[in-house]
Amino acid sequence: MDACKICGNTVNNKPFQVREMMFGIRDEFEYVECGNCKCIYINKIPENLSGYYPSDYYSFQPQETSGATAEKKKAEPLSLNILLYNKKKYKHILKLHLCFKKIGLQKNDKVLDVGCGTGNLLLEMKEKGYTHLTGCDPFIHNNVIYDNGPAIYKKSIFEMEEKFDLIMMHHSFEHMDNSLEVMKKATALLNEKGHLLIRVPVANNYIFKKYGTNWIQLDAPRHFFIPSVKSMQILCDQSGLKLNNIIYDSEAFQIWGSKQYQMNIPLIDSRSYKSNPNQQLFFRWQIWGFKLMTWWLNATKKGDAACFIISKQQDF
Ligand SMILES: [Zn+2]
Repeated sequence: MDACKICGNTVNNKPFQVREMMFGIRDEFEYVECGNCKCIYINKIPENLSGYYPSDYYSFQPQETSGATAEKKKAEPLSLNILLYNKKKYKHILKLHLCFKKIGLQKNDKVLDVGCGTGNLLLEMKEKGYTHLTGCDPFIHNNVIYDNGPAIYKKSIFEMEEKFDLIMMHHSFEHMDNSLEVMKKATALLNEKGHLLIRVPVANNYIFKKYGTNWIQLDAPRHFFIPSVKSMQILCDQSGLKLNNIIYDSEAFQIWGSKQYQMNIPLIDSRSYKSNPNQQLFFRWQIWGFKLMTWWLNATKKGDAACFIISKQQDF
């Protein structure tokens, strides 16, 4: 077995099989948990990933954002993160209030959202008065340029050239294979006082220990790499960045989703809580219990997702 791509460890790396369960394809993939830094990575990326993004995957359209006069080009596909969002207005930006406050983000700061799909979060930020908004996502069909608003380019982070005050990755980092190169490129794109904000699933958490291969955030084979806190620290050290803060922001999804996989019920399924909140799988009081448990997991730094606040300046 290859060495861990983050820390180079070769001892006690544990392989395990994970099924594709978002769409219920149920193909199996080998993942590895590093015996040292505890990150989880797919052992071999499938050659043809498009089969794991079925056509109805693209039918999830971005929310309509009022006030944004959009010259949208048609049929933009979406990043996975959009799939997991609901339609509540300002849902995305509300979650980020504390993060933006911690880094002191100004309305005229230059912001880049990497892997932004068609830019729902950026549109919300525009409505809230942010003025310099850019996005990039190599999987959209075309550039998407909104009137007076975000410009979203069909590019990977490696094709971006401007400098930014804030670079964000909202559940896109785990879809990229070359995490260290991504971090180093982000470092090169940041202004001297710039910040990097990475929201990502976190390995070595309570839910993975409890549900194992049914942990919903493994999301085989679309998630190539799930860092632990230790692996994020290693990546920051190797990129010359400073890891300042970790805000756990996991949701009750971690529990009901993993329980569904345990019951062999895909995320996209008529029986799923995602498709039908009035489903028969969980009582309402159970869902409230999952939310309470999630609050506790986040408060005790054991949730399955977090926002890593990283700065370029070492003395931030
Ligand atoms: Zn490792």
